[in-house]
Amino acid sequence: MNESFQKAIPLLSKIEEAGYEAYFVGGSVRDCLLHKEIADVDIATSATPEELKEIFSRTVDVGIEHGTIVVLFKGIPYEVTTFRTESEYIDFRRPTEVQFIRSLNEDLKRRDFTMNAIAMDKHGQFFDPFHGREAIKERVIKTVGNAEDRFQEDALRMMRAIRFYSQLDFKIDDTTRKAIISSSHLLEKISVERKLVEFEKLLAGKNRINALKALGETELYKYLPDMKHRVEGLREIGQYDCIQLTVDEMWALLLIKFEIEDFEAEEFLKQWKLSVKKTKKIRQLLKWLKYRVDNDWIKEYLFEAGEEYICSTERINNVLHNQSVDLNVNRLKAQYDLLPIKQRSELQVSGTDLQEWYHRTPGPWIKEKLEAAEKAVLYKQVSNRKDSIKEWLLECNLN
Ligand code: ATP
Ligand code: MG
Repeated sequence: MNESFQKAIPLLSKIEEAGYEAYFVGGSVRDCLLHKEIADVDIATSATPEELKEIFSRTVDVGIEHGTIVVLFKGIPYEVTTFRTESEYIDFRRPTEVQFIRSLNEDLKRRDFTMNAIAMDKHGQFFDPFHGREAIKERVIKTVGNAEDRFQEDALRMMRAIRFYSQLDFKIDDTTRKAIISSSHLLEKISVERKLVEFEKLLAGKNRINALKALGETELYKYLPDMKHRVEGLREIGQYDCIQLTVDEMWALLLIKFEIEDFEAEEFLKQWKLSVKKTKKIRQLLKWLKYRVDNDWIKEYLFEAGEEYICSTERINNVLHNQSVDLNVNRLKAQYDLLPIKQRSELQVSGTDLQEWYHRTPGPWIKEKLEAAEKAVLYKQVSNRKDSIKEWLLECNLN
């Protein structure tokens, strides 16, 4: 058994000793069967959150209304979820209320795909009533039970199907795919926050190119924020070998292919409810990318962009030109490393110095002179020392 599971066995034993059942479930069991690295070990149990709190001294309430608490066990946090059913679905969204139950089978039944509905006990024995292991062997994404019903219950599952398609490169079972096509409109009811989580996982997946195409083919794209009129762009992105780009670089690529201008970018990203920090970063990337499409890098722009944006911009630009993703990136990094200054604050001259040297009151002239000095330093016309810059400025006699 995998080491992450091994470490959690005493935790399962403790729950069992208290008279309840406990199993490994969900993504960790699936990923283990796929011989992939396991991110988090998820545990399902017949004990209720309150009962768990009596067993373990260190717990954190994270989603107690859904039956999930975090148990800190030997320094490692584990999400432990009480067996539950989700019987009442309102508006094609997750139920507002969950019912705790004592049956593993019923808990597995409410899970989305057969590959995600496998439980494993502490001896490594599987409980797999929906043949999830077979699905993993056949590399297929298939709903537990009737696909249309399951998408009616929670329409986000359609988006999850496509993101697993992206991450795992499995095929989507025919019936499941047909149900996505016929139910795609239900995705409209789902909150942007939940869509965003799945979409960003999709953007990071190894099969992202086909997954983006699948969003088009299934018409799910129509129910994603501000995507209704962008099917052409989606199709085009499918032509680019973008699998080595980061998620933020993927966003920038999307903006470019959707022909979104800088002033529209903020609104588009806001509709997706991306954080302010991420929005800022992606907009910066877009700015540099637009510059790069028509120009080569010059020192001033290398300086202004900084290493991270230079590399990302170059990588996206390479993808757009069907070139190897890291072409020129190291050369540009070396060029950047050789710049005499990397930050504006490293310039050895300040506005106060200038006022003193020129005996003038502050005004726009200060910025102009600082920029001139900065450029001269970058091009090594003058060294970055106060006296040298003073001499250079006065000699140039710039107004
Ligand atoms: P990842 O590796 O990305 O975390 P995961 O399979 O663990 O993948 P989670 O979103 O963490 O996905 O969900 C954990 C488990 O909960 C899933 O494996 C699945 O069994 C169940 N699950 C999650 N979301 C849903 C849903 N919308 N409908 C039904 N079951 C779900
Ligand atoms: Mg998970």
